[in-house]
Amino acid sequence: MHELSIAMGIVDAALEEARQRAVHVTAVHLRLGALSGVVKDALLFSYEVACQDTALEGSQLMVEEVPVIVFCPQCNERRTLPSVQLFACPECGALTGQIVQGKELEVFALEVEDKDPEAGKFDTPQLRSEEVER
Ligand SMILES: [Zn+2]
Repeated sequence: MHELSIAMGIVDAALEEARQRAVHVTAVHLRLGALSGVVKDALLFSYEVACQDTALEGSQLMVEEVPVIVFCPQCNERRTLPSVQLFACPECGALTGQIVQGKELEVFALEVEDKDPEAGKFDTPQLRSEEVER
């Protein structure tokens, strides 16, 4: 499954960041373009799988969906495509393949909290309550 390897890449990068900054990651914010070829729901599911048994277990993947914007040479303007099926300007109908955005697949923010100095000795209350929910 394509999304699983992507999710594992995201988790690895976030784990590395968490290690370097000595923080606990609670959420990962991702920009996902309509042309990225990634199915959001499949990615969310894969993220949970990829987080299992890592320091990111219980963290959230927050996906910001990015619409496709093309440049229309006819209007000399950027236009947001209503659909990824047809690469034509929604204003004048001119066909265009000049994609300005929509292929994004990038982590742009991490929500973190400082590691509790006691965390090495005891589970934090937050981690405990998350385990109860499962
Ligand atoms: Zn146009």
